[in-house]
Amino acid sequence: MLEANGLMVFYENMLALNNVSIKCEDKQIVGVFGANSAGKSTLMYTLSGIMEDIRKKEDMAGGERITVMGQILYLGRDITDLKPSKRAKAGIVLCPERRRIFPECNVIENLRIGAYLASPSQAKDTLEYVFMVYPALEKLEKRVGGFLSGGEQQMLAIGRALMAQPKLLLLDEPLLGLSPLIQSIMVKSTKEIRDEKGLSIIVTEQYARPVLPIVDYAFVLENGAAVLEGTRDELLNNPDVRSAYFGV
Ligand code: ATP
Repeated sequence: MLEANGLMVFYENMLALNNVSIKCEDKQIVGVFGANSAGKSTLMYTLSGIMEDIRKKEDMAGGERITVMGQILYLGRDITDLKPSKRAKAGIVLCPERRRIFPECNVIENLRIGAYLASPSQAKDTLEYVFMVYPALEKLEKRVGGFLSGGEQQMLAIGRALMAQPKLLLLDEPLLGLSPLIQSIMVKSTKEIRDEKGLSIIVTEQYARPVLPIVDYAFVLENGAAVLEGTRDELLNNPDVRSAYFGV
């Protein structure tokens, strides 16, 4: 489904991704785990192509020079130079860190904004689906985004991403700042979405433990480099890995 080879990202002289290669097969959930500043968001921006927009903005503002190298293959096609909007159209949809919902728009409006790539019938069906996965959101239809709790905002952010008809959903730290109870709801719903919609999902998290049960394969990033990878069972069955990275 997606294969990234030798990704290198420099913010000026600072190496944020160091020769990272990752893979996500069809209908897999792939975890990318790493501490603060390990490079998780940089990876997600690079895969979604948004890094290209950030790079252009920096160029225009005379800011720092951002350099991106490596190759990204998606559904058998080289998308390394494809614009983020075209990647979204092809099904790569990013649900960014810290949700980034529109705080002045209500729940329905936020979801409709996500449907810009969907046909009216897809939008209608997906809206019903989002409310089925997150019934709490339906009750809050008219509430503005800024007045939702963190968990509700995260549901809305994932719902909005689903409205864009993803084939590959990129979830950047979806559990950030949520209570353990809400975290477990989000983890369960992520698996449900994969199973029911047949999507592929790449999910980043600082702590692997809550997400590990639902991933098929995972990578560990350290200072921008992928230092470890394996199936869930391979990682869980390695005692050194378990204690060093997963706290289990
Ligand atoms: P977090 O959990 O804090 O979100 P992360 O794993 O997502 O961390 P990144 O946000 O990808 O990490 O950052 C990787 C490194 O690149 C960090 O050292 C960060 O300070 C740096 N960095 C990120 N964005 C920029 C930028 N626009 N300009 C300069 N340095 C940046």
